[in-house]
Amino acid sequence: MATILKGGEVARAKKSGIMKRVDALKERGICPALCIVMVGDRKDSHAYVKGATKALTGCGIDCHLAHFPEGINQNQLLEEINAINKNPEYNGIIVMRPVPDTIRWGAIEEAISPEKDVDCITIKNLSKLFKGEGGGFYPCTAKAVVDTLDHYGIKVEGKKVVVVGRSLVVGKPAAMLLLQRNATVTICHSKTLDLGRITSEADIIVAAAGVPHLLGANSVNRESIVLDVGINVVDGKLTGDVDFDRVEPLVSMITPVPGGVGSVTTSVLMENIVTAAQRLAGEI
Ligand code: NAP
Repeated sequence: MATILKGGEVARAKKSGIMKRVDALKERGICPALCIVMVGDRKDSHAYVKGATKALTGCGIDCHLAHFPEGINQNQLLEEINAINKNPEYNGIIVMRPVPDTIRWGAIEEAISPEKDVDCITIKNLSKLFKGEGGGFYPCTAKAVVDTLDHYGIKVEGKKVVVVGRSLVVGKPAAMLLLQRNATVTICHSKTLDLGRITSEADIIVAAAGVPHLLGANSVNRESIVLDVGINVVDGKLTGDVDFDRVEPLVSMITPVPGGVGSVTTSVLMENIVTAAQRLAGEI
């Protein structure tokens, strides 16, 4: 039986630190606040906003929704983002994806102020991540992966880590953060040949492909530590990229879905918002 790496435990441990920082800011008259920009009415976006608002307000962080109709054009949206950049009430901005086809995502990446870019989508913050420089923000899910490893005292230096997925949101940033910690990192993707053999030779596997049950019994070894980032809906149920029921008895440690890395992501977002508030106030 594997040790189950529980995201809820990691998130709870982070929460007390976040609340202390929020209280200290409020004593100085600063209320950390996020503005979520949403275009259109996607059900999954509404669900995210509802969940994020509950989590953030529970830690004393304000959460505002800037909601625009599907028909808003790119220039109008960029003007709105610019107004949020300038609005001192907000320390962080995130934009819900996907946006309508009429809006170029790259234009949004260019429009957001890097100082409020708590989801790390701007070139400036991505460049800091890839150069290994501090002072920016790390993408929340990628950071949630390393924070989960840290919480459970799992050292990555010198370990063979395989990251499955190479998106700028999860796979590449997770690989960069693990590389910074001196892991030996292999990145796999949809054109990788013999994926199961590669993952089965790894000490740590980070699955971030968005393919339900991509990794099964033949993809792991007895010592494998498996972090499943995938969030997929199969027959109305949430499932990861790892076939949990088959893999769990065969490995040493594993995150479940739900209740794994996804549970840590929101607390990383909160830390980023508080950090942005402290930086904007000149405190750090
Ligand atoms: P994405 O942009 O669709 O990227 C998926 C990556 O997986 C791509 O690099 C793709 O390779 C690779 N891939 C797809 N099929 C594969 C296969 N059969 N074998 C190996 N690699 C394969 O997705 P994403 O935004 O990175 O998200 C990945 C997963 O994480 C999704 O399930 C998403 O819902 C979840 N997610 C979770 C959180 C969280 O908080 N836990 C946050 C964000 C995302 P190519 O580059 O070759 O196409």
